[in-house]
Amino acid sequence: MKFFKSVTAIALSLTMAMAVAGCSSTTQTTTTDTTDSTQTTTEGTTSDVKTYNIATDTTFAPFEFSDENGDFVGIDIDLMEAIAQDQGFEVNWQVLGFNAAVQAVKAGQADGVIAGMSITEERKAEHDFSDPYYDSAVVMAVAAENEDITSYEDLAGKKVAVKVGTEGYNFAESIKDQYGFEMVAFDDSNSMYQDVLVGNSVACFEDYPVIAYGIKQGLALKLNDKQEAGNSYGFAVAKGENAELLQMFNDGLANIKESGKYQEIVDSYTK
Ligand code: GLN
Repeated sequence: MKFFKSVTAIALSLTMAMAVAGCSSTTQTTTTDTTDSTQTTTEGTTSDVKTYNIATDTTFAPFEFSDENGDFVGIDIDLMEAIAQDQGFEVNWQVLGFNAAVQAVKAGQADGVIAGMSITEERKAEHDFSDPYYDSAVVMAVAAENEDITSYEDLAGKKVAVKVGTEGYNFAESIKDQYGFEMVAFDDSNSMYQDVLVGNSVACFEDYPVIAYGIKQGLALKLNDKQEAGNSYGFAVAKGENAELLQMFNDGLANIKESGKYQEIVDSYTK
């Protein structure tokens, strides 16, 4: 009680002293602004532009990958940059790998993740998702010359390559006991494909848009006819965090869809 009284007393006497001296915080601010308005404006603009740390996968073409010039590019990268430009924020990329990117956001080490990340009910327990921005599905792929594996039944007693933390991994796990195969886990898509190409695993499970793109680019794999229902991709933040960023993503996405920029970006990688 005594403590509060003395704090109030100090505050009161300070206010009185300022009133007597004829200065107030309002006067001070105005003075600063008029002294050097150019500088104030410049400083104001710079500090207003917020930079967000956005985590992503290392190799998930056409969504994120290093092109032949060594530039890190992709649909996710261009979409995020276009949305950032539309909404007036900046992006600091953290290229971590899929599982690591999802974990970094959960741990508060990154503000958001865009990495061809499927919007699933399970993930909604720990993430808030944007509106969906790309449709996907899970599919099995085998080596291009492989004629033995044409259905899940043929996987019995064999190895199947999967990527940690993905929908493809979860799907493989859900049918593994039923069809009697063993799972071999990798952190990135390229290593998973390699395991099939060298013949250690007979198949892998991957997102249709990604593996179909890879095959078109010369990856020596082929797709099984059957596609599993997959979920659309969304941008994600940690649950209850970065609501402002999520809103800007949705607003920016709507704007670039309307302006044609969204389609232009997608076409530039898929056509
Ligand atoms: N879409 C899949 C998932 O969210 C895979 C994402 C990825 O490997 N980058 O699980």
